[in-house]
Amino acid sequence: MTPRVCLVHYHEIGLKGKNRSTFERQLIINLKRALKGRAAQVERMSGYVRVSFEDGQVPEDVPSLVAKVPGVARVSLAWRCGFDAEDYEAAAVESLRSCGDFQTFKVHGRRSCTDFPIHSIDLNRQVGSVLCEAFPDKRVQMHHPDVQVNVHVVQGDVYVYADAASMRGAGGLPVGTAGKVVTLLSSGFDSPVATWMVGRRGATCVPVHFSGRPMTSDQSEWLTQDIVRALEPAGIVGRLYVVPFGECQREISLKSPQALRVIMYRRLMFSVAERVAELEGAKALVTGESLGQVASQTLENINATNEVVKMPVFRPLIGSDKTEIIERSRQIGTYEISCQDSPDCCTLFMPRRPETHARMPQVHEAWDTFDHDAMVEELMRNVEYIDFDSCPSYRPPRELRKWHHELAPAEWEVVE
Ligand code: ATP
Ligand code: MG
Repeated sequence: MTPRVCLVHYHEIGLKGKNRSTFERQLIINLKRALKGRAAQVERMSGYVRVSFEDGQVPEDVPSLVAKVPGVARVSLAWRCGFDAEDYEAAAVESLRSCGDFQTFKVHGRRSCTDFPIHSIDLNRQVGSVLCEAFPDKRVQMHHPDVQVNVHVVQGDVYVYADAASMRGAGGLPVGTAGKVVTLLSSGFDSPVATWMVGRRGATCVPVHFSGRPMTSDQSEWLTQDIVRALEPAGIVGRLYVVPFGECQREISLKSPQALRVIMYRRLMFSVAERVAELEGAKALVTGESLGQVASQTLENINATNEVVKMPVFRPLIGSDKTEIIERSRQIGTYEISCQDSPDCCTLFMPRRPETHARMPQVHEAWDTFDHDAMVEELMRNVEYIDFDSCPSYRPPRELRKWHHELAPAEWEVVE
């Protein structure tokens, strides 16, 4: 029986010139992790990665698992045939038979190796005539056919698949090829999408969640963990940090002017996130902010928050509409989780009328009504983390334990 394989196509990696092999290597590592426990063979071929199994079959869920891995442009469930014409012709008939309802088709032959004796135009004719015979009531159509049967000759084999057996992948670049970022992750719709977007561009993501604990329950923490789990197939998150933030919010709410509270909370969050980023060796922060979406996301307020950090802050959703963000959250599997309302630090001690156009002198005055430096230290001492093993490019900071040992030997809590 002719074996089935997954052919993994990538676009952008193909453009990477001299660094190409680094990208391909990382993609293979990430695919192996995404298929962990399935005894899959993941190998590089010229222009593709091939995923195959000992028994020559591909388990049903494998193509969609492969498709979720950043760097994968398309994944096709193909027959892997030898150079024997009978073999690949039979596969072409089979692939067309599995296409369901169609009227027109064409064969797209391609040769990526020269040891195959037949030119691609002749290959098209040869396979096309077999298909015409097998499907006498269907027509060949060169432009916009209902179905295309691909016959690709690559490194000693002929791979056959119909377009219908091909699905779109996440696109982007393999995680681990663009360095590390710290993302500010709530359980809302936006920040999980923002995290996924930078992950898809190859960044290893380290989310930090600020919970309202002890002033609220820890429900937002559970939801955030669920979000990280939902993102696991993409393999972008290695560790989630959780910062109990309720006490600081209470203190800020008592001391600073009501309208500026949210900006104070956010400045404190950014300061702590930057500290975590320094610890992790991450080079940027990422938020799910979208211009003008809520009071804290006006230009003035974004500036007032940004001021406290030196690192670049990426906002991949800055120009997105909520409907687009929600659509994406459905695609990446975080929508249902984000629908669940939970009190986190965003709902705690909220002012009735938050400032929408903060002015810097007032912001600075409010910032000095409490000892923000001491708060950052205190929050860093109480930070907790949970590790996830779905991201092979994540390396925990080596100095963490030493650093923590010096600062707070007793209070460090590792949640596993
Ligand atoms: P989201 O849907 O991501 O919660 P939002 O529309 O609720 O965003 P804000 O509450 O203003 O908007 O938050 C803006 C951004 O600040 C979020 O996208 C996220 O990056 C960060 N953020 C907000 N709350 C938290 C939190 N509790 N922990 C970590 N980051 C947060
Ligand atoms: Mg929110």
